[in-house]
Amino acid sequence: MGEKKEPLITINLNWCKGCGICYHLCPKGVLGKDELGKVQIIKQDSCSKCRLCEDHCPDYCIKIGG
Ligand code: SF4
Ligand code: SF4
Repeated sequence: MGEKKEPLITINLNWCKGCGICYHLCPKGVLGKDELGKVQIIKQDSCSKCRLCEDHCPDYCIKIGG
């Protein structure tokens, strides 16, 4: 039985207030905004796990795993 793989990017949209910090900071274009201005994942495969988004979200919405 294999270990369950942790998702790379976990976002708690209930906490996201759409401030835009994360998707403006992401150097890889992984994050973007949805129609409400909240964060959404655009291209997860490009994530370098730099954790800029996780470290700078004022509401602790983003968890980078893996
Ligand atoms: S930094 Fe946090 S609160 Fe701001 S848009 Fe990103 S996930 Fe939402
Ligand atoms: S960890 Fe870095 S590359 Fe990945 S989504 Fe966050 S800011 Fe972008």
